[in-house]
Formats: sequence, C-alpha cells, structure tokens
Amino acid sequence: MGKIRLMDEPLSNKIAAGEVVERPTSVVKELVENAIDAGSTAIEVLLQEAGLTSIQIIDNGAGMDEEDALLSFSRHATSKIENEHDLFRIRTLGFRGEALASIASVSKVVLQTSDGTTGTHLEIEGGRPTEQRAGALRQGTDIRIGQLFFNTPARLKYMKTLQTELGHTIDLMNRFALSYPRISFRLVHDGKQLLQTAGSGDIRRVLADIYGVAIAKKMIAFEGESPDYQIEGFASLPEITRANKNYISLFVNGRWVKHYAIANTVHKAYHTFLPLERQPIVVLNIKGDPYLTDVNVHPSKQQIRLSKEKELLELVHDTIRRAIQTAVRAPVIEKPK
Ligand code: ADP
Ligand code: MG
Repeated sequence: MGKIRLMDEPLSNKIAAGEVVERPTSVVKELVENAIDAGSTAIEVLLQEAGLTSIQIIDNGAGMDEEDALLSFSRHATSKIENEHDLFRIRTLGFRGEALASIASVSKVVLQTSDGTTGTHLEIEGGRPTEQRAGALRQGTDIRIGQLFFNTPARLKYMKTLQTELGHTIDLMNRFALSYPRISFRLVHDGKQLLQTAGSGDIRRVLADIYGVAIAKKMIAFEGESPDYQIEGFASLPEITRANKNYISLFVNGRWVKHYAIANTVHKAYHTFLPLERQPIVVLNIKGDPYLTDVNVHPSKQQIRLSKEKELLELVHDTIRRAIQTAVRAPVIEKPK
C-alpha cells in the first residue's frame, strides 16, 4: 500500500497559515482588506495586547448570509474571482480565498455578520466550527480573533515584544487610512484610541491625523499621467526630511505595496533638494489597468510586478520633481525691472 495521504483541511490550512499569518499585523491586514472589499465606510480595529490576546474588526459593509459565512472559512473560498481570466483583472484587495481559513486554523474566531436580512453567529476553534446560530441584524461584519497562535506555540514564542507588534499594526492602519481617505478608520489598543480618521475623502486631512497639522501643511499635491498610468498624491517640501524610506507610502490601485524601484525613484526626484541620506514624506497613488499589475507574487500580496515599469518610473520622477521645483520657486517673487 502507498504511503502518501491527502491532508485533511484543518492541517493544510495550518500549513498555509505559516505564510499568510506571520504575526498579528498580518491578521489585521487580511481582515481590514475584507472589510474594504465589502464596501465599508467605517472600520474599527480593537486590539488587546497588540493583538495576541484579541483582534476585533467591526465593519459596516455588505455582510454575509448564513451560507457564505460558513463557506468563507473554507480554503480557496472567495466571492472575488471566478476564473483564470479574473486573476489578471483583480480589482479587490483579496482574491486568494485563504485568509479566513488560515487565520481560523491558528486561533479562536467569533464571527457575527448580517447582510441586512439574516444575522449569523459562528464560532470556530483551530479551524473547526464549535457553534452556529442566528445572530443580530446589524448590517456588516464583526469578527474577533482570540488567542492567535494558541495551537502553534513555536510561532507564538517567536513574536517580538508587544510594542514592536503594535508598531507594525499602527503603521499598517496609517497606510490604509492614507489610501482610503473616504473610509473612517479607528484603531484602539487596550482601550486607548491610537488613530481616528474622518473618512471625508481629504488625504491632506488624513496626513494631519497621522503626521500632525504642521507637516500636512507642508505637503504639496501633485498629479500626472502617461499613456498607461495615472498618479496623484502628496510630497513633502524639502525642508521636511526623514531618516528612512518608511515615510514613502506607495499604493497601486488602492493596495499598499513595497516596491524598491518606485521608492528609489521618488527619492531621486528630490535629487539636490534633499541631502542624499535623507528621505521625504510622500503619498503616491498609482492607478493603472489591473492587467499591468501582477499582485499574485506572494501570499501577503504586498509585492507587485509591473508591466511598463520604465514608463511609470519616468512619470513618477518627472511629476514629483516638477511639483517640488514649482513649490520651491514659488515664494521667490521677481522684482520688476
Ligand atoms: P478573499 O478575501 O481572498 O476572498 P478571505 O478568506 O479573506 O478570502 O474571505 C473569504 C470570503 O469571505 C470573501 O471572498 C468574502 O466573500 C467573505 N468575507 C470575508 N470577510 C468579509 C467581510 N468583512 N464582509 C463581507 N464579506 C466578507
Ligand atoms: Mg481576504
């Protein structure tokens, strides 16, 4: 008899969780992405002990009916893509259909969701449903992840200090707020509110909420387009500098991405305006046909491969450089001859 066996679902989910659920911040990221994809206009994130004890996300989005609520925890279950063709036209933040399954396999989940007509209450422990009943009718989803990594002690032990974990999540929430200024975000840690944005649609206001009013006033708006890409955002005046590139926030079709070449190009746009080792504060929103942007590079979906990268880099460089040049020259008033 052969020795090979197919794994049961809880086991394969637990293995996948190793990649998707690296730390509390990864859970917050996946759940907030789901809330955004569900069309929410207000998203609340409540953490206890940096998320290791509890992560609760409350949204006012579309919610789910009972059948979907159960199905959402199955691996490869998604409402966002149907076929291979869709994979190249992704307009949502999620598409892999594995976040909830992975998260549920390494934690204790309580889900309350309502699509407005039915309400569902579900509890899942280590990937196995333990309770299911009718729930409240409040439209939206309230999901609570308790005791993350309770059944993967090695991962739990690996977690850095609570302060480090919390720092990652604050950073993440700031980026969500910057890329979705129309959504009101709130982050509360152990009862203390750390972030609250208005959801007014005004990026400068979000910049003020995050970096302070004084800095927000010194950010210059820019926009530009090339045949395949449109960009817009805010770039700090050269008098404001930071020690690292962490203040350069890059978003591609609403997704926060890490892209070395783009970040480097933003820095180059400041050449001679900034000391070489200093970095600006920049929010750069890039829009382009999803066909040009491959996000299926890594389970965390933060890396991206771009077609027509050279065209985009030129656009970024020229648009930001022009904006800074204009702003720096603006105060100099030519004396009449
Ligand atoms: P993906 O986001 O890649 O589709 P997930 O495992 O994160 O995979 O979620 C599975 C499905 O559950 C989603 O496709 C969506 O239909 C549903 N879902 C998850 N979270 C929410 C939410 N907050 N509101 C409404 N539907 C949700
Ligand atoms: Mg998702």
